[in-house]
Amino acid sequence: MVRTLKNAVSAGQVAHAYLFSGERGIGKTSAARILARAVNCLKPQAGEPCNVCENCLTILANRTLDIIEIDGASNRGIDHIRQLREEVSFVPSDLRMKVYIIDEVHMLTNEAFNALLKTLEEPPSHSMFVFATTEAHKVPRTILSRCQVFDFRRIDAAAIALHLQKVAESLELDITRDATQLIAQRANGGMRDALVMLEQVASYAGEQISADTVLDMLGLADTAVHEAFLETVQQGDQATLVALIDELVDRGKDLEVFLSDVVNLLRARLRIPSAHSREEIRLSQGLLEIKADMFRSLDRRIRFEIGVLALMESLQTQRSEPKERAAGGRSEPKGSADRGKPQSPTPSSVQSPTAPPVRRKVRVALPVSERRRSGAESAPSPMGGSWISMLMLFAVFGAIFYFMLIRPQRKRQTKMNELIAGLKRGDLVVTAGGIYGEVDSIGDNTAVLILEDGAKLKMAKASIVQKREK
Ligand SMILES: [Zn+2]
Repeated sequence: MVRTLKNAVSAGQVAHAYLFSGERGIGKTSAARILARAVNCLKPQAGEPCNVCENCLTILANRTLDIIEIDGASNRGIDHIRQLREEVSFVPSDLRMKVYIIDEVHMLTNEAFNALLKTLEEPPSHSMFVFATTEAHKVPRTILSRCQVFDFRRIDAAAIALHLQKVAESLELDITRDATQLIAQRANGGMRDALVMLEQVASYAGEQISADTVLDMLGLADTAVHEAFLETVQQGDQATLVALIDELVDRGKDLEVFLSDVVNLLRARLRIPSAHSREEIRLSQGLLEIKADMFRSLDRRIRFEIGVLALMESLQTQRSEPKERAAGGRSEPKGSADRGKPQSPTPSSVQSPTAPPVRRKVRVALPVSERRRSGAESAPSPMGGSWISMLMLFAVFGAIFYFMLIRPQRKRQTKMNELIAGLKRGDLVVTAGGIYGEVDSIGDNTAVLILEDGAKLKMAKASIVQKREK
């Protein structure tokens, strides 16, 4: 892709319109700017801008009116594009080529696209358009067909790390390989994000940068901490968990990012199916839901802590469930109410997070509703009472149903049967479909009607709903 562009520049065969598509932060706009310099450079080197000639320097210093960058998202209307069309016709003021860079071009309105299309159909020789978009499918075909389209892909972490290392060397930063790799992973394929992170880390840490500095700076925890967290949750060690969360908060870690990282770790484990897979899936789901809740919560730390404690509790309940069932024979499975929603925080578990042995005693003292919710005991008398009230409710609704709907319907039906039985030739009738006619003849189930225009219509007797007087 880069080679194609370079060749075009060095051969002087640049297209008048390019479309760079791809996800955000992977260098579309940067490439557009380089291209703008390359086509204006006085001494391009193998298709690349020299960055030292007068034109390159003018552009780099932002001193030219001939490179116009437009944000498609905030200048979507036709007025902006009309103005652009007028300006395009003027020759460049200090460069060779006028370059219009329109970012997020898919945001333009239809009218704006139409206006743009007219310019693209007859582009002045001194102008060039570079469009960038994250959603190429939203750009009209008519526009696409006039552009050379380049698809930008995510850059793999190794390539980003390598580039970061080079940049660091040129900036004389002392950065470890672990640190650049960590940044590269976090950048998720986006070179721009990676460079921004490098810059942040450098200004945060000074000249010596290690993986730990990067973790601190980005509010991230080490993989070892993720492992420890998971182990604690799976063991059900509440005291250690609370201490671990305290430490995360004290060290300024981003709890939401932490959760994502833990889920990613679980995801990696799930690729290898094991006996623990079911529990790990439940755990991932629970953690993701805590994360979603945290987003809405005012006190994220408390939401995080309570959510994880509750999740831990529900995992413990589920684990002990099969054993108890084996011991208790055919009895109602314990904690069945919890099984569907392992993530729901149970107030009982939160009240005594650090004192697991006391918990069972506490549960006995819980109100009836609480006991029933956890399925610990089924209370027979309230259940019997609800059966009776259910039956009564049925009876009342049944009566209402009969008197309001069925009985009138039956009455109507009887009246209809009488009407149809009493039909005779010459009667004026109306059908269910609203047809009005005179009975001509009557069969067993059918009747022939003479309609107003004289036409005869054979139809089911049952569809006659009304008799009219002459
Ligand atoms: Zn140059």
